[in-house]
Amino acid sequence: MNIKDNLEKIKSSLPDHVTLVAVSKTKPLGDIMEAYHAGQRVFGENKIQDMAEKYEALPKDIEWHMIGHVQRNKVKYMAPFVSLIHGVDNYKLLKEIDKQAQKSERIIDCLLQIKIAEEDSKFGMTLDDASGILKSENFSELKNIRITGVMGMATFTDDDAQIGKEFNALKSAFEKLKTIEAPNFQPKTISMGMSGDYPLAIECGSNMVRIGSSIFGERN
Ligand SMILES: *Cc1c(COP(=O)(O)O)cnc(C)c1O
Repeated sequence: MNIKDNLEKIKSSLPDHVTLVAVSKTKPLGDIMEAYHAGQRVFGENKIQDMAEKYEALPKDIEWHMIGHVQRNKVKYMAPFVSLIHGVDNYKLLKEIDKQAQKSERIIDCLLQIKIAEEDSKFGMTLDDASGILKSENFSELKNIRITGVMGMATFTDDDAQIGKEFNALKSAFEKLKTIEAPNFQPKTISMGMSGDYPLAIECGSNMVRIGSSIFGERN
C-alpha cells in the first residue's frame, strides 16, 4: 500500500474529534508531499533541526508538531513556526519557550508530557509536578505560551491491559488538571496513541494520535 492509501484508511477509522498527527520523522520530503497531496496538513517530527529544514522546504500551510524530547538550547530554531510542542516536561523548558515565543511575537501552544509508562526510558513529569506548575504564579506570568493539554507514551509492550491502564491514567490526569484555572491554561488536547496502540488510546479518551509507521512504512 502507498502513503495515500494508508492515510485514507487510517483517517476513515478515526472519529471526527480526533486529530491525526502524521509522524514524518526520518522520512524524505517526497513522502511528506505525498501525504500533503492526500490532504494531510499536520505533521510531527522528533528532531528540531530536521523539522526546521522540512519547514523551510515545504508548503507553509503545514502545521508542524514537535513530538520529541526538547533540548532548551534548540527551542529558538522552531519558535518562529512550530504549532504545538508535545513534550514539555519541566518548567525551565517552558520558560525558554516563552522567551523565544516572545522574540517571534507569537503565543506557542504546548502540552505537558506526563510519565505514564512503567519503563524508565520515557520522559515526562508526574501529575503533581504538572499541577504544581499550572498552579504557580511563575507560570501564570508566561504570556507567550499556552498549555492546551497533556501528552503521554505507553510502555512498549503487547500487553493491552497494561497499555490501557496507562492511557486511563493519562485521561484521569487530564481530568484532574482541567479544574485548575490560569489564563494561559486552556485544556482541550489529550495526545496519546501511536501506530500500534491508537485504537485503544481513542477508546481511553485520546483526541490526538501520533501515527508514523502505519502511514509512511517502517523506519530504518
Ligand atoms: C515516532 C513517534 C511516534 C510514531 O510512532 P509509530 O509507531 O511509527 O506510529 C509517536 N509519538 C512519538 C513521541 C514518537 O517519537
